[in-house]
Amino acid sequence: MTDGPLIRVENLKKYFPFKESLFSRKVKYLKAVDGVSFSIKKGETLALVGETGSGKTTTGRTIMRLYEPTGGKIYFEGKKITKLPKKKFQKIRMQMQMIYQDPYSSLNPRMSILNIIAEPLRQLKVENIEDRVLELLESVGLSKEHMYKYPDEISGGQQQRVAIARALAVNPKFLVLDEPTSALDVSVQAQILNLLENLQKDKNFTYLFISHDLSVVRYISHRVAIMYLGKVMEIGTVEQIFENPQHPYTRILLESVPIPDPKDRRRKKLVLPGEIPSPLNPPSGCPFHTRCPFAKDICSEKEPDYVEVENGHLVKCHFVEVMK
Ligand code: SF4
Repeated sequence: MTDGPLIRVENLKKYFPFKESLFSRKVKYLKAVDGVSFSIKKGETLALVGETGSGKTTTGRTIMRLYEPTGGKIYFEGKKITKLPKKKFQKIRMQMQMIYQDPYSSLNPRMSILNIIAEPLRQLKVENIEDRVLELLESVGLSKEHMYKYPDEISGGQQQRVAIARALAVNPKFLVLDEPTSALDVSVQAQILNLLENLQKDKNFTYLFISHDLSVVRYISHRVAIMYLGKVMEIGTVEQIFENPQHPYTRILLESVPIPDPKDRRRKKLVLPGEIPSPLNPPSGCPFHTRCPFAKDICSEKEPDYVEVENGHLVKCHFVEVMK
């Protein structure tokens, strides 16, 4: 890992307009991402964690500008890219690639693996395309025998390796990995995680790793941001989050998965009641107050600020100190 953020987002917002009914004139907004800030250093992995509807995937897509942000700023290597015209952004966009949860649907079933990986290379007018495709296949643990196959002739794990090889074809610096192992068998998951880790070591890649699986996140990440209804509730290093979680939501999430944490035995077990509220109609004040076992009156009235409980460990809660 080297110093200096590759990616920085400041107060990022993505709102989707919707109408409550077909005949309604009033446009309301679904606040999928609502004031998210973080940075990721070169060679670092930041995990975005949360339940379905927390806004983690929308955050990833908005950073890539697959969705245009509603507000806030995005910086890539110190350069503001939020409002960069499409043509100018295109060059930077090449350095940012996305890997999806379901590799099969991200690969064209009518194209051979050779052509899938060659496509971006042709756009870049790379010479000796077959040699370069073979090099890329080998860098993700595949070989020449896979080159002439089609996506449905290889396994799910191999399909994800092909998707990674195609992303690497344009020499990216930043990869958004959107649940890249959750559609795979457990044994294959570990292989893909190892591959991603080794590629990061070799090429100093920067990852935004989107996941709901805390054991995977603990294994792969350097830092973790816990999201709830479009906001980051807690952010810190993997040690700070897993060994000293401070936000009630983080604590409940950690207690709901079988991760050994001897310190937690001293604490009362917390249970997460009910479902995540609809982002169409989020609770006032602290968005977690409808499910939080520590909620007081102020929690529904005022949104909490971030409290820095240790270096770089931020928690969005009115009562952090009280709950220790
Ligand atoms: Fe719970 Fe209140 Fe803290 Fe929100 S601000 S997490 S409702 S105690």
